[in-house]
Amino acid sequence: MLNLTSTQRWMEHFFEEILTHKEHLSDLDNPIGDGDHGINMARGVEATKEALATKDITSINELFKTIAMTLLSKVGGAAGPLYGSVFLAFAKASLDLESLSKEQVITLFEEGQTALMSRGKAGVGEKTMVDVWVPFTAQFKKGAVRLEDVDGFVEATKPLKATKGRAAYLGERSIGHVDPGSYSSGLLFKTFLTLELF
Ligand code: ADP
Ligand code: MG
Repeated sequence: MLNLTSTQRWMEHFFEEILTHKEHLSDLDNPIGDGDHGINMARGVEATKEALATKDITSINELFKTIAMTLLSKVGGAAGPLYGSVFLAFAKASLDLESLSKEQVITLFEEGQTALMSRGKAGVGEKTMVDVWVPFTAQFKKGAVRLEDVDGFVEATKPLKATKGRAAYLGERSIGHVDPGSYSSGLLFKTFLTLELF
């Protein structure tokens, strides 16, 4: 069961991991983008922490909505609106729920994935974070996902050729690099798994 306390723990851990990997996220974005993914994500995290500090969050919905609104308004680049849409979908999926069962968490991830894909218009195999979302959500629905599985999904973006996002400008030269957004989404999923709820 995912309740408000565990969702807060999940988000705090995710924020911490983004800040810890800020440089690495930008380093991944250097060869196939503009080297700012870590900066963008860290800016979002700092702004979200500030927004949360001034609020008395009383529901999962309110927590996700605050994160979504902050990311949408404070983060430039592709990642802000993409993660903003994801967290807005998370907020909708948790509306009026005090806690989420495994079934409801599956729906949460599916709704997040749908929002991500409709906002970014990327499908599987285009070397974007979609390539981590789709296998994670599918495997979580089927059963258990291990941390190593998530690392595998992230690593599997390396041989792909980017056809969406900034990396698509590089064409063939995007091959051989891990996608930065996939790495940050990997952190979202690994911090969720670390809660060991299901
Ligand atoms: P920008 O590309 O504007 O500099 P970031 O560097 O913060 O933004 O984020 C880049 C990441 O965003 C990519 O690594 C990729 O995972 C993700 N991304 C880019 N375009 C899309 C898209 N159309 N759909 C899904 N994810 C995308
Ligand atoms: Mg970038």
